Amino acid sequence: MPAEEGYTEALEAATSPRPTVLVVEDEPNIRELVCLHLGLENYECVQSGDGEGALKLARSQHFDLVILDVMLPGLDGVTVCKAIRRDSENPDVPVLMLTARREESDKVVGLESGADDYLTKPFGVRELVARARCFAAGLGRSSTRRERPPNRSAISTSKWIRRGGACASATRTSS
Ligand code: CA
Repeated sequence: MPAEEGYTEALEAATSPRPTVLVVEDEPNIRELVCLHLGLENYECVQSGDGEGALKLARSQHFDLVILDVMLPGLDGVTVCKAIRRDSENPDVPVLMLTARREESDKVVGLESGADDYLTKPFGVRELVARARCFAAGLGRSSTRRERPPNRSAISTSKWIRRGGACASATRTSS
């Protein structure tokens, strides 16, 4: 019955956990603005103002998305991203990098460090939220994976990339 299906869907939506985003940014105003807008989109935000704190969080809990500033005091974003990929509870979490730099080489370094996408500062918070939503297509898959016992070999290496303004899933090629 369609009515029952609708009820089941509503029940699932009400009981499923909100996607959790780790927001790593040392500028409190930007961090809070990002979290405010993600909160309005029903994301739960965990904030960190530095790389060490972010890595500690990534090693202790599951995240559905990481928004990571490149220029951080102490450990920089590129180092944090590599560490998240190599040694954390979130080796395949989508990472959206924030960079103040416009040089092509820095974007390449960011992507080669394992980031899935980047935004150049100054960015519009609505664009950031749109990108976050773009990754939401992979969130359901991510929470299913969480219920499995930890087994790195079983973890999908699918990567979310932007193609012509839209998100598409592509399998990461091993190199
Ligand atoms: Ca910064």
